[in-house]
Amino acid sequence: MIARNPGCMRSMFVSDSVHLFSNMRHLGRIGLFVATIRKFLVNLKRHERALFDAPGQEWTIRYMSKQGQAVFSMVKPSESVRTLEVLGNDLFFLVEQFKSNPHVTRMSSYQLLVRLLREQCRVEPNAEAGEPKVLIKPNKEVPSDSLQNPSDPDASYDGHKGKGYQMQVAETYSRDETKKPLSLITEVIVEPAHHSDAEALIPLIEATQQRGFGPEEVLADSLYGGDENCQKARERSVEVISPVIGRPQENGLTLADFTGADEGTVRLCPQGHVPVKVKHKKGKHTAIFSPEVCTVCPRINDCPVKAGKKGSYLHYDEKAPRLAKRRAYEKTPAFQEVYRFRAGIEGTMSQLDRKTRVKHLRVRGLAAVSFCATLKAAGLNLLRAAAFRNSQEDGNLALQQRNPGLFGLFSVFKEQFSSLWADFNTFGCYFNPDQLFVTKMTV
Ligand code: SF4
Repeated sequence: MIARNPGCMRSMFVSDSVHLFSNMRHLGRIGLFVATIRKFLVNLKRHERALFDAPGQEWTIRYMSKQGQAVFSMVKPSESVRTLEVLGNDLFFLVEQFKSNPHVTRMSSYQLLVRLLREQCRVEPNAEAGEPKVLIKPNKEVPSDSLQNPSDPDASYDGHKGKGYQMQVAETYSRDETKKPLSLITEVIVEPAHHSDAEALIPLIEATQQRGFGPEEVLADSLYGGDENCQKARERSVEVISPVIGRPQENGLTLADFTGADEGTVRLCPQGHVPVKVKHKKGKHTAIFSPEVCTVCPRINDCPVKAGKKGSYLHYDEKAPRLAKRRAYEKTPAFQEVYRFRAGIEGTMSQLDRKTRVKHLRVRGLAAVSFCATLKAAGLNLLRAAAFRNSQEDGNLALQQRNPGLFGLFSVFKEQFSSLWADFNTFGCYFNPDQLFVTKMTV
């Protein structure tokens, strides 16, 4: 994302997301069942010893002993389905056995059992056996926000990036290539990995606006720049520039070539013909062109109209003209010139990982991961600010070496002026003590 800051017309925001791995072990499904059941039993033993030691609980040895753990860690692929069924039945048994005990149901480890059962299993009534049947859901039916490890219940799963969290980052940048700019990270949002990037754009804009440096213009990749986001950003006086998701049309005419389509009513086709009728119904529009003009039109093969009973029909909805207009803009050199700056954020993501190891955090839980990631982003800002300051001072030193006389004169003037300004402030404060530490000037 790139955005223009009202305070500095050539300052931009860039944003992207990076995947974060918290300090949790990657568990397969068998490992997840075993770890969750074991966590509950350990807590039960610690807090409700009488229940843990009650007769008939000998099977808990399966989860608490080292031998039992070893059995589950060496399951052959051919036996994994059977093992999962056994684990599913144990899980169901535990949930049912303690569901009426308020001391147990209050335990967070019991709530994880219930969550695991809901997300990974389907319990069906079994009329023949009299007891419900526990079936393991196929992988594709398990939601992406499901439990990944009982030691970090907030972490979720993204099919593309894996298990953990993601960090949305926005930073400033400048299009002014004559000077080396100072880019600073302005906002960090950490969320579970399954969240869509599309949902992050508006919160990023709002968070920066609330702090008084909201953007005027945003460059983002296609996931952030859906039509809905563009409209919401415009309501907040922010222009989003991004490619439209999906493959652009290679050749031919598009809706953007029809006059009036962006206002909702097509008035002229690209060949200058007026539609014989335009219909509007529940946000859908249809422009009908005379078959006489379309059949002899030289652009009939390029045109998006479709032949129908009463003429050539052009169907479109509210957002189609806006998307067509953006696709047309994407092909222009002006768009390429602006959009090339978005690539700068990739360097920031790489720098965040190389310098702060943000992708491999040593904490767990959304709050701790968010706190750590924010601190690391702040640390990168400090590094960048220091490097920028050093580069400025190096530049001044080089200039000073080239013009020693001029700089000597400037230093004398600066000292005198600073001294005068300090006297003036002291004089002002004598009459207005409230301003004592407020009025400052750096020369
Ligand atoms: S095919 Fe019909 S609607 Fe399309 S450009 Fe030609 S005349 Fe216009």
